[in-house]
Amino acid sequence: MTPETERETEGTRVAVVTGGSRGIGAAICRRLTGDGLTVHLVYRDADDAAERVSKEIGAAGGLVFRHKADVSDEAQVRRLVDSVVEQDGGVHVLVNNAGVIDDRLLALTRTAQWERVLRTNLTAPFLMCRAVVPVMLEQSWGRVINISSNSVRQPGPGQTSYAASKGGLEALTRGLAAEVGHKGIRVNTVAPGAIRTDMTADLSARLGVSPEGAGWGLPEDISGLVAFLASDEADYIQGQTFTVDGGRLAMRPRGSKSGA
Ligand code: NDP
Repeated sequence: MTPETERETEGTRVAVVTGGSRGIGAAICRRLTGDGLTVHLVYRDADDAAERVSKEIGAAGGLVFRHKADVSDEAQVRRLVDSVVEQDGGVHVLVNNAGVIDDRLLALTRTAQWERVLRTNLTAPFLMCRAVVPVMLEQSWGRVINISSNSVRQPGPGQTSYAASKGGLEALTRGLAAEVGHKGIRVNTVAPGAIRTDMTADLSARLGVSPEGAGWGLPEDISGLVAFLASDEADYIQGQTFTVDGGRLAMRPRGSKSGA
């Protein structure tokens, strides 16, 4: 764990953001620190990217701590959450953002490939929630925000494992919301459309997919809604999935006939 700035943290809300080194997660870390939260940025491999984002946040006056941990590994998740609680005394906001995609047709998907996607996108949020929710219950306050995908409702060819993992994540959101809602914890999902990040850098070329009509979104198009859901203002919002896709799902596919 690496502190980027020294600052008094008494009374400040504490957030854990998985996959905070790049793309959408990095934007969420920037936004939450900008809103005054202490953020624990979790990443798996990309030391340089994590350091860059942390330094940028520190330079802007935000307070961020870096943790290198594989959130699909039970023991690493336990150590991660223990160290955050030991340092800051609690966790108020958990953003399960880390994710992977591995597009290939179902018939050509090996079991290990399927399991890697499910383990990162669905089991990891389960492990994180299981470790963090007891801490939130003690506080009688918490926010869990899971990052899903439009692919649940509109999967491209080859996205079976990805769509299944994110569909499971949305179901996890509703199930957990039903369990802990009466204890002051809110659990919601944000489902982005096509956002320009490393994950989508070669999507268009690989699958012939482009975000028709809606255009590409930016990570900051997601982080604003996450910040709102993490706030007191979202207290009456529970178990929901919010699509942020520039209207892509709402639009009629190009070339389809209009009519009733
Ligand atoms: P990126 O590929 O740009 O970044 C992924 C992040 O997740 C990185 O920080 C990576 O760490 C981290 N990560 C991956 N696996 C693990 C793991 N096992 N343990 C810890 N950290 C891990 O992704 P995006 O920013 O594009 O996507 C973020 C989320 O948004 C994902 O859940 C994705 O499915 C979802 N999403 C993205 C869309 C898009 O168009 N970009 C659309 C819909 C949903 P490291 O840098 O160390 O590798």
